[in-house]
Amino acid sequence: MAVYQTTRSEELYLAAQEVIAGGVNSGARGPQAGWVPGPPVVARGEGAYVWDVDGNRYCDYLLALGPMIHGHAHPAVTDAVTKAIHEIGTMFALPYEREAEAARKIVETVPSVELVRFGNSGTEVVLHATRLARAYTGRDLVVRFEGQYHGWADQLEWSHHPDLAKAGPRLRPIALPGTPGIPGVIGQTLAVLPWNDREAVEQLVAERGREIAAILTEPIMGNTGVIPPEPGYLQFLREITAANGIVLIFDEVITGFRVAPGGAQALYGVTPDLTTMAKALGGGFPVAAIGGRREIMDLVSDGAVLHAGTYNANVVATAAASASLDVLAQPGTHERLFRLAERLMAGFGEILGRAGAPVQVQGVGPMFQFWFAETPVRNYRDAAAHLNSPKYAALARALHERGVMVHPSNIELWFVSTVHTDADIEATLQAFEDAVAATRPILTSRDA
Ligand code: PMP
Repeated sequence: MAVYQTTRSEELYLAAQEVIAGGVNSGARGPQAGWVPGPPVVARGEGAYVWDVDGNRYCDYLLALGPMIHGHAHPAVTDAVTKAIHEIGTMFALPYEREAEAARKIVETVPSVELVRFGNSGTEVVLHATRLARAYTGRDLVVRFEGQYHGWADQLEWSHHPDLAKAGPRLRPIALPGTPGIPGVIGQTLAVLPWNDREAVEQLVAERGREIAAILTEPIMGNTGVIPPEPGYLQFLREITAANGIVLIFDEVITGFRVAPGGAQALYGVTPDLTTMAKALGGGFPVAAIGGRREIMDLVSDGAVLHAGTYNANVVATAAASASLDVLAQPGTHERLFRLAERLMAGFGEILGRAGAPVQVQGVGPMFQFWFAETPVRNYRDAAAHLNSPKYAALARALHERGVMVHPSNIELWFVSTVHTDADIEATLQAFEDAVAATRPILTSRDA
């Protein structure tokens, strides 16, 4: 094995700190997110691979935290975007023909979506969804779940990964802001609940149902590793919201178009009122969308509820969405994503099991993660003891040294793209086996 060098990355990361706060442009990319002492600095990406400035090549399962579902610089998506720019420009603050084309593809693919509006980031469209739900119901309270993430905005970045010493009782957690700078009063507009826990929802709805505008949930929890919904749980949320005049919002920013063409709602057969989408939608370009039932979405149709944004549905965004959805619509795409990811999941479980490390591999097709835990992780509180696991960080580091790119924190995920091949999976399993052998004393120690 060639010696793994990071010198140039370290130099560039230090130099960037002279002009970029912390040297990175998102909290998920710096040492506080687990990249210690600093992140590799990327030279370029192509297909399922990224290269760093030290010449290391990695098979990429970070995939930019999800958008690169077709790998890097996919020719169909890149060509569609560049062609559209050359042919028609980039934005007009006026409608143009092709934006409806992209919208139509979403409406035809995602079961609950009758009307759609485009935005630019997941954060933004989730905010629009909660605004619409509040306007539609005339109620203020939004329910969100511990361990989930819905973007960084003041209104929703609460109890994402709360300190359990401060988080209150299981059935009635205390809403805790995720960062300094969020006004405490906003907490009064939220109720935080544990996920996969029917009793908690039933109790809150019994007490405060008439105040609740929306239950907002990731249909598969993807921001505390991966936690699938328990059988019947999403259906339960559908029924209790419908019975109480509450809007059910699925935040499909991660799951959308990924776990099935129509997202988690198609996979589980549960139809929310509103859906937020981003990441896979744009295949590596910034685009997001909110869609849902006509009756609710129509509130923005005549301007009764404001939805705006200079960059909404710009040509780059809609060309990328249109092309990304076309690639995803090719027959067999999701079956292949599932098959490749399931090979990795089974292999990781087997290799770690053989090494004597207790492990729970949890995932739904091309989004998965594993926990060094004795029992399955059903919700944030189960995960809390295993978050940002040093064992996981050590294994991730050993994987980087062997040409596999993953985030060093186990709160993030492994993603598989449409351009990973069986040979990539084979090589990754070999690298994983070697990385586990190299870190076995750490992985099998009794500490978390
Ligand atoms: N919702 C979910 C479920 C997410 O995972 C994320 C981002 N990881 C967001 C919303 C926010 O999206 P963005 O980073 O595009 O603002």
